[in-house]
Amino acid sequence: MNRIKTTETVGKTSETVLVKGWVNVRRNMGKIAFLDLRDRWGILQVVAVPAELDEASQEILGNIRPEFVLAIEGVVQDRGAKQINKDLATGTVEILAKKIIVLSESETPPFEIDNEERQANEELRLKYRYLDLRHERMTRNIVARDNVISFFREWLHKNDFIEIQTPILSKSTPEGARDYLVPSRLHKGQFFALPQAPQQYKQLLMVAGVDRYFQVAPCFRDEDARADRSPGEFYQLDMEMSFMTQEEILDLTERMFTEMVETLFPEKKITQKPWPRIDHDESMKKYGNDKPDLRKDKNDLNELAFAWIVNFPLFAEQTDEDRFVGAGDTWGPSHNMFTAPKEEDIPLLDSDPGKVRSYQHDLALNGFEVGGGAVRIHDMKIQEKVWDLIGFSDEQKKQFQHYYEAFKYGVPPHGGIAPGLDRLLMVILGEKNLKEVTAFPLTSDGRDPMLDSPADVGKEQLDELGLSIKK
Ligand code: ASP
Repeated sequence: MNRIKTTETVGKTSETVLVKGWVNVRRNMGKIAFLDLRDRWGILQVVAVPAELDEASQEILGNIRPEFVLAIEGVVQDRGAKQINKDLATGTVEILAKKIIVLSESETPPFEIDNEERQANEELRLKYRYLDLRHERMTRNIVARDNVISFFREWLHKNDFIEIQTPILSKSTPEGARDYLVPSRLHKGQFFALPQAPQQYKQLLMVAGVDRYFQVAPCFRDEDARADRSPGEFYQLDMEMSFMTQEEILDLTERMFTEMVETLFPEKKITQKPWPRIDHDESMKKYGNDKPDLRKDKNDLNELAFAWIVNFPLFAEQTDEDRFVGAGDTWGPSHNMFTAPKEEDIPLLDSDPGKVRSYQHDLALNGFEVGGGAVRIHDMKIQEKVWDLIGFSDEQKKQFQHYYEAFKYGVPPHGGIAPGLDRLLMVILGEKNLKEVTAFPLTSDGRDPMLDSPADVGKEQLDELGLSIKK
């Protein structure tokens, strides 16, 4: 007999079926045991009456505890009207067990899995993440994440985008954060950097004529955690397109998001369609920030208030806490250093750089920034001017030799955006923390208690890399 999903038992009344999964809860009523069996799809009530079971099953019934993995053969039966459980997808039926096989036993888990209060602390949850992920809500979140990513992939493919994997062993990408470095064994003393974003590659792909690129891209930034920022790595839906105006980029992104929400989360309401477009200036004046929460009812979990923030200043004044890595004393890029200034403001680059507005666009959702992008500079003279203004030395400019080279050979005007998948999911799923939508996140202080990393490495490995650790 083939195993069926717990949820497939509905509609199979009187049939003999085989289900497999974990014991979520066990309740005893005299000699009868009720086992709630859990698989990825749901929870199913199994009634184990000794007289109905074969001999071997009768013998082991007493030992079965929560989180044991079982195979159960039994007959689907309708529940009496009073026993119907509206909270369960399988709530109208149950299985009368005939045969139970223990596939694997379980010790008592370090925390209760079926506990909505999530009393276990973060350290414990992440140390035993494979148990934490068994919780219904966590399963739902991982599945929702897959649904959202699959939707975007399909939508983008239908709209002529192609997905391209850009290197992970890369070179420092100046997105403003600290890099993770990877020592090279073959070139001792030299380092790769993990990409903070595939920004440079995607621009070079436009030079290559790809026209429409996307990637579900891991991005690595060595930053301290904040509530809405994960330490280490996160995922972006990285997109770039050629020959498109800012208007067209925003329109395409907006259509894709709207269709995604309407298809996958029909219970959600988008507050305003088309999404409002707010000047950066106005947003700062009116809301005091550039990611305003425009929900009409902040208690409504199903409200999604998207807004575009546009007309950013090209440069941001540097402060000591928030300094763009590598930039000079005065100006840093407001988004990244490849963002194009508005044509009409180009003369101000010489006279009043602080007043130059750019083609940056940020996507705000319920008070979070869930994406940012821009139309890029495709004229090297302007790119150099921007580098000068952010205080790049000749040495630093040399690091972008490939731009100088590539831009000599016909660059299409281009631009893009990179919605942050983790943050987007956190907001849509109504979670308060990015960790709830990531299968294996790091702790807030950047560790993985499950694999116990980062970890020391042996002397041999260090020698091979030509490294020694400063004590
Ligand atoms: N690379 C940018 C970022 O990571 C996104 C973009 O401009 O497309 O923020």
